[in-house]
Amino acid sequence: MEKSRSLTRRHALRRDLPLWASTPGGSIRTQGKSRRSHYDVIIVGAGISGALMSHALVEKNLRVLMVDRRRPVRGSTLASTAMIQHEIDTPLHVLQKSIGVRNAQRVWQRSATSVEQLGQIVRDLDLKCAFQAKKSLFLAGEDYGSRALRTEVEVRKAAGLSANLLSAEVLRERFALCRTAAIESAISASANPAQLSAAILRNAKKKGMEIVSDVEIKDIKEFDENVVLSTSQAVLLSARAVVFCTGYEFLKVLAHKSQRVVSTWALASRPRLKRPEWLDEYVVWEGSDPYLYFRSTPDGRVLLGGEDEDTEDAYKDERKRARKTKILIEKLADLTGISIGKPDFEWSAAFGVTPSGLPMIGRVPHIRNVFTAMGFGGNGITFSQIAAALISSEILGHRDADWDLFPIS
Ligand SMILES: Cc1cc2nc3c(=O)[nH]c(=O)nc-3n(C[C@H](O)[C@H](O)[C@H](O)COP(=O)(O)OP(=O)(O)OC[C@H]3O[C@@H](n4cnc5c(N)ncnc54)[C@H](O)[C@@H]3O)c2cc1C
Repeated sequence: MEKSRSLTRRHALRRDLPLWASTPGGSIRTQGKSRRSHYDVIIVGAGISGALMSHALVEKNLRVLMVDRRRPVRGSTLASTAMIQHEIDTPLHVLQKSIGVRNAQRVWQRSATSVEQLGQIVRDLDLKCAFQAKKSLFLAGEDYGSRALRTEVEVRKAAGLSANLLSAEVLRERFALCRTAAIESAISASANPAQLSAAILRNAKKKGMEIVSDVEIKDIKEFDENVVLSTSQAVLLSARAVVFCTGYEFLKVLAHKSQRVVSTWALASRPRLKRPEWLDEYVVWEGSDPYLYFRSTPDGRVLLGGEDEDTEDAYKDERKRARKTKILIEKLADLTGISIGKPDFEWSAAFGVTPSGLPMIGRVPHIRNVFTAMGFGGNGITFSQIAAALISSEILGHRDADWDLFPIS
């Protein structure tokens, strides 16, 4: 086995410390090396995807090892603004045109179920992660105006998903927002993504999962019924199944698949910022490209982001970050009157997207019992839960009815 190169892409992933880097409860004790050499399942990656995957597997009494080349929850998950939405980036009426009405409905329904499942996991495990159920407000914008939103509400209702079309007048009266229309819907949430992931990992650890950090998976081979991994410690590990939850540092063999990495920016105000009362109940985003999105935190910060750019390195540019921060602050002020002042935290990061806006979840081609989930876009947390459910069922030998919905193509 070749040991020098890495199996997955290597990316800085983010610049500067996001808000969550300074909140307690986001770290977790790990081991320097694994206790054994064979496991039922090895999960590569200790972000939110790996955490939810581990939860789905340890509940089934499997012997699980998690390996990360960083400390846990130090990848993209730490950069997330953690708006946990069932509304995916591609509106249902648009997705229906590309993958058909029934499949698009299944994607949106699955997404809604996943947000509910995430809430259930938080309640079942009593996780301390600032999780709050929220409504969402999708504002008409340059790409999707009031007519598109009306169509969207109709198709969502036909799919059994609740959605209210709000007129310009209602938006003005209830929210003091000046837009031609908006969709209000119920099934969303927000959380502290570092605390959420770390708390799930701590629970999995309690149930017997080992977590090894600062160890990279370098290569992979099939051997009889097992998958064999070589590590940066020159150790060989084997498992019946391996799951790559490596986020935007996806497997290089899949680099030709239709996934791009883009740049995005985010910031957080000081706590107890003056803000409209309604904001604490909603996550807000808009039908524009690039779009602005925002929400509040339980300690009264306003968190906002967007201004995505189609290049994978733009987020590293310091001057650009200053410009993007200014634009985001101005856009929010124009729309809501909220004055952020000098943000307490500003950060920028890489972001993996696919043309359909859907993740790719499935078996890695040409190698048995190796799975991956990639291309999560702006709905990473919701999609991570879908991936955990689909892949864990496959490993356990019960094919999920939605297994074919997010192909690696
Ligand atoms: C600024 C920003 C805002 C976002 N906002 C939202 C939002 O509001 N809502 C939402 O749902 N999603 C959001 N997302 C998306 C979401 O944060 C991500 O999809 C999600 O965090 C990805 O989690 P992950 O566990 O897959 O990846 P990561 O957290 O990056 O974890 C992957 C891990 O794999 C490890 N790894 C990689 N290769 C190897 C290897 N060869 N060996 C060992 N370890 C390896 C890495 O070290 C890393 O720790 C946002 C993303 C960004 C950047």
